[in-house]
Amino acid sequence: MRWRALQTGKIYINQHPKDARLSLEDLKEMISSGGKELSKRVLHYATSLRGTKQFWFKQQSRLISMIDCLDMPTIFFTHSAADNQWPELARLIAENPDESSSRSSAVNNNNPALADWLFYERISKFMKTFNVDVLGATDYWFRFEWQHRGSPHVHGIAWLHNAPDIEKLLSSDDSAELLDVAERITAYVGGLVSTMNPGIPADGNNIINSIPLPKIKPHVCNQQYQGINNLEMDLVDLVATCQRHTRCSTSYCLKRKRGKQECRFGYPKPLQQVTTITTQEGEPVVLTSRNDNLLNAYNPVQLSAWRANVDMQYIVSRNKVIKYVAKYATKSEPRSKGLQEVYSTIMKSIKEDATPLKVVQKLLTSTIGERDFSAQETCHLLLMLPLFRASRDFVVLSLDGSRQVTETFEEDKSVTVDSQLDHYCARPDVPEFREVSLLKFVQKYRIPKKIGSALVPRNKDVIVIPRPYCSPDPQGPQYEQYSKQKLMLHKPFVQLDELLGGCDTYAAAYATFLQSGNVPKSLADDIHRLEMAQAEDQQTVDEEVTIIYIFKQFIFYSFLCILFAGM
Ligand SMILES: [Zn+2]
Repeated sequence: MRWRALQTGKIYINQHPKDARLSLEDLKEMISSGGKELSKRVLHYATSLRGTKQFWFKQQSRLISMIDCLDMPTIFFTHSAADNQWPELARLIAENPDESSSRSSAVNNNNPALADWLFYERISKFMKTFNVDVLGATDYWFRFEWQHRGSPHVHGIAWLHNAPDIEKLLSSDDSAELLDVAERITAYVGGLVSTMNPGIPADGNNIINSIPLPKIKPHVCNQQYQGINNLEMDLVDLVATCQRHTRCSTSYCLKRKRGKQECRFGYPKPLQQVTTITTQEGEPVVLTSRNDNLLNAYNPVQLSAWRANVDMQYIVSRNKVIKYVAKYATKSEPRSKGLQEVYSTIMKSIKEDATPLKVVQKLLTSTIGERDFSAQETCHLLLMLPLFRASRDFVVLSLDGSRQVTETFEEDKSVTVDSQLDHYCARPDVPEFREVSLLKFVQKYRIPKKIGSALVPRNKDVIVIPRPYCSPDPQGPQYEQYSKQKLMLHKPFVQLDELLGGCDTYAAAYATFLQSGNVPKSLADDIHRLEMAQAEDQQTVDEEVTIIYIFKQFIFYSFLCILFAGM
């Protein structure tokens, strides 16, 4: 990582010769005065340093674009490792695969690289055989993380092709349709996610003695899936061993809330007779039937085949998934110091004869942070294994007219190449292409080298990342630019000014477009934000009208008073 940061520092200096000519005093001044401009520019380069905060910010915006393009995903999932137990790993690396101390010593002391590689291969194959082939996932995204003992786990989301449309629950006014959707959702979730402990008898009222104990001698995860005779008993053991949140600790899940210690995962959870769906604060909540208040949700096939702790949650709202993405799926490792603090330490440590390259390299290495890397995580990075996997490719679409500079220079030829926007505006004037939006055009077609060449459809739609980023706040300073971008993406055009459609501003034209009723689901938030802003404006107008009315009344009564006083 440090080496990569140093190399990236060189690239930065080569591409920004102006900064290389700054004196050391200039650089120190830039860093100490907040260094915002310089650090912003330098940190942009840190997006390519795997695992940094900037790297995960980039992945976060890509994942949100994926959700915008593919609509609501269906499930969140987590898969942990039982690398001290898995027999296939033990056979590869342990001296005595049947002995638990030999297995754990092989994983933890001698072979972190092989243990991490096997996890990577195992989860990659599992996505295909379970998520795609069994659950029917059309797409997925997941990331690797290392914690505690240093073994990896993954968090991810998947889109399942037959999932009921939960957003209908919030948008429909038809009570018969609502009931139908609610029933289909509870049936669907009940068949997908379980919070039932199969080891508790049907009539057992969660009596502590009736809950089976973990099976650790021999360990249930040390059994080969193919060799299991009784799948039902095996599931009972797996649930008892891997799925129960039996110990809360201050170092892991206990957080102080309202003056007392509470488990951040909400254990113990209330028992639930049947699976139900309700709404709380305008959001649907699905409560699956539960007979064990310490049980972590799972899918029985997922748990039986994976053979270590798993989690599966049905996604109930767009809001929840965006929060999950920001806080969970793409979070960076905690850093020990704030950036400003780190920069001020750097400033103090810079020697008098330091070159600008050294300063930039120090800034970049500081973004890696001073946290501990587990042996398996270090091996993962050294093996250049991906930190996340996605079922789609991502394409950046520049909406501000910028074009890439050509790699070769020819006399009298343009030094920039045609952008995707240029290709779109020059698309064939035939019905197939006339009504296609820029977003769909980039998603579906490979851009040829020359304008006018035949357009070849892609095998799978790509996820488009529009740039530059603009804030969607209707009251904010970027809203005009934001509106223009959204119109460019979603409303077919050839000349940009067509998008104004007779309006004076892009914001007004976008409002008209949003109210036309024929817009993609991903713009639902924009419609909501616009309605809120309009309601606020209306309130201001109403208040102004009231003030004018009261003022008029005052003038009128004053006039009457003067009139009567004179009589
Ligand atoms: Zn807990």
